Amino acid sequence: MTDYLTRLNQAQREAVEATDGPVLVLAGAGTGKTRVLTTRFAHILLSRRAFPSQILAVTFTNKAAREMRERVSALLDQPAEGLWLGTFHALAARMLRRYAERVDRTSSFSILDTDDQLRLLKQVMEARRMDTKRFTPQGLMGTIQRWKDRALLPDAVPRDQDIDWGAESARDLYAAYQDRLRALNACDFGDLLLLAYDLLRRDPEVLADYHRRFRYILVDEYQDTNLVQYYWLRLLAQHSRNICCVGDDDQSIYSWRGAEIENILRFEADFPGAKIVRLEANYRSTAPILAAASGLIAHNEGRLGKTLHAGRTDATGENVEVFAFWDSDEESRAVATRVETLRREGHKLAECAVLVRAGFQTRAFEERFIAIGLPYRIIGGLRFYERAEIRDAIAYLRVLAQPADDLAFERIVNTPKRGLGDTALRAMHERARADGVPLAEAAARIAAEATLRGKARDGLRDLIAKFADWRTTLKRDGHVITLSTLLDESGIIAMWQEQKTPDAAGRIENLKELVRALADFDTLEGFLEHVSLVMDNDNEVDDDKVFLMTLHAAKGLEFDTVFLPGWEEGVFPNQRALDEGGAKSLEEERRLAYVGITRAKQRAIISHCANRRIYANWQSSVPSRFIGELPADFITLGGSASLARDQRLSAPPVFATATPLLARRDDAWNTPSRPARADKLTEGTRVFHQKFGYGIVIDADDDRLDIRFETAGEKRVLDRFVERA
Ligand code: ATP
Ligand code: MG
Repeated sequence: MTDYLTRLNQAQREAVEATDGPVLVLAGAGTGKTRVLTTRFAHILLSRRAFPSQILAVTFTNKAAREMRERVSALLDQPAEGLWLGTFHALAARMLRRYAERVDRTSSFSILDTDDQLRLLKQVMEARRMDTKRFTPQGLMGTIQRWKDRALLPDAVPRDQDIDWGAESARDLYAAYQDRLRALNACDFGDLLLLAYDLLRRDPEVLADYHRRFRYILVDEYQDTNLVQYYWLRLLAQHSRNICCVGDDDQSIYSWRGAEIENILRFEADFPGAKIVRLEANYRSTAPILAAASGLIAHNEGRLGKTLHAGRTDATGENVEVFAFWDSDEESRAVATRVETLRREGHKLAECAVLVRAGFQTRAFEERFIAIGLPYRIIGGLRFYERAEIRDAIAYLRVLAQPADDLAFERIVNTPKRGLGDTALRAMHERARADGVPLAEAAARIAAEATLRGKARDGLRDLIAKFADWRTTLKRDGHVITLSTLLDESGIIAMWQEQKTPDAAGRIENLKELVRALADFDTLEGFLEHVSLVMDNDNEVDDDKVFLMTLHAAKGLEFDTVFLPGWEEGVFPNQRALDEGGAKSLEEERRLAYVGITRAKQRAIISHCANRRIYANWQSSVPSRFIGELPADFITLGGSASLARDQRLSAPPVFATATPLLARRDDAWNTPSRPARADKLTEGTRVFHQKFGYGIVIDADDDRLDIRFETAGEKRVLDRFVERA
């Protein structure tokens, strides 16, 4: 019956068995905090202290909630149902729906996304005749969000924290916005917690109800809670005081979203006599990985201080590898080759993860994985070419290349907004049908006439004129310059710049990455064909896939092998973080690096490139300072053959003392970089394609090959997708 307890060490067991009273588990990565929480959950149930519905368990992501549910089910040996287990937002929403009428909503209230929020704020501002160009809804939204994170309803915002927003006060606008939300029977994301907290605070009946219900509260990733989340927990735990929070101050990576590390100190103050448990044995990583991560995070000041040692009995292991590559193409090729080597050696793909600092970095890896048919999955985001901003930009390119592409034209005709609503679009469609011409041509005809009026007519004329310009640019300056011009002149970049939402900067980075991607192709057509081939690549059949995600999304997870590419100044640490937040942000970037390395169980492989393309120009980059901060005894340096051979490039500073440039045993990792295709494949060559199998080249045209495949029939593919058989 108490089998599960024997799978814990002494300190973990203490944390699990101290069911009653407040407990704070403060411990480094991989020490079993989540295991403690899960086991505690099961222990409370199995020792009949509570029913499943009497435990409130908070996780940081839905994925973590799923995993926790599975872990609990496994421990209980039956499906765990009816649980209050989920993210803060999910749990708060559930409470609000139950007591909706007490926050002036009905139980079917809607939850607004960022776009809706902005639109609503804009309406509020326009109703007051404000200049929304100078005082943007985006900026105001940020302010309101910060207040909400700090549990401040409009009335509670201290006067001295109010800000002038044009002729208005931000606080008054906030109040008006909340009124509108109420009238619409809606909540924004920040409201979920704010209103749930406010409800408990105001309504003793509701609070008593939840006090009766929740006898135990469990919180994972406690270091990333914000103030309103903390207050909400504190109220709920007030009565039973049976609250257990687990966290690691070194892994606090969401301060940009309002998380407050001080909540750890608040806990000790608000729950006097709390049992503080420290776990010091790391069961996840080998000793060198742990030592490297610990050495790195030691560069942060103001830590709460913890000891961490290897708890695995087999915790010897290989050093963290650090590689220098020529550019990101070579880097992604090397990573993919290494993954294949691991797979050949019997490792599962799903035990490999590539963790990047920013979303745009996934592109190089995705293309490489697709090219060699390596199944991958992206967590917490879309694949590069599926992202909305990329689809928009590609739709512009498609219209340029193929004016008859109606779908593409329809996608972009009013993106960014240029006053072309449904009526205008209907007029274009009718005209296209009547004249038997493509949509773009019909639009051009309409623009030349007086069918449309006002803003719509100006918007359309402007768009048609611009397309004419871009066609000239395309002929004169080539596709790469055309795309950067187009991104500017179409207003796509400006559209995202105006959005001060957290993801807007990432979208602009993605667009820049698209320009880089385009530069790899000689023609626009070649690129578009590549994109359709890439998009067509559905590798859904296979469940064993390499994971690709940002470092933020990797929190709490673990993998045998972790690749950490792009460790260059400006990429990681991220330039924006450095510009905006100074020393504090640098420490948060370093914590992110710590999170990254500590995801690895067996192998951590860090890399950086000597060159990065910024638009169409190359720039040399400097290795991340974090590389220099890794303790030398626990890292092994390596570099690609092509980089070593290149005389123009002096070794990056960090490698000044590196002895063996080719330290790796497996040669695959060091395969010299091969450009798109040095060996031209000619008619009659037998080739292998990862998706279509073996075939014979029947026609070769530039970088495109017509191939008669043995089973898949005749196909046209890009030559970089095939290998000589
Ligand atoms: P993070 O800070 O990254 O969230 P964590 O502290 O939550 O890490 P867990 O994910 O719970 O750590 O545990 C890390 C790994 O160590 C898991 O694979 C877990 O199963 C294993 N583990 C935890 N405790 C023990 C133990 N006592 N004996 C053996 N393995 C353990
Ligand atoms: Mg954990």
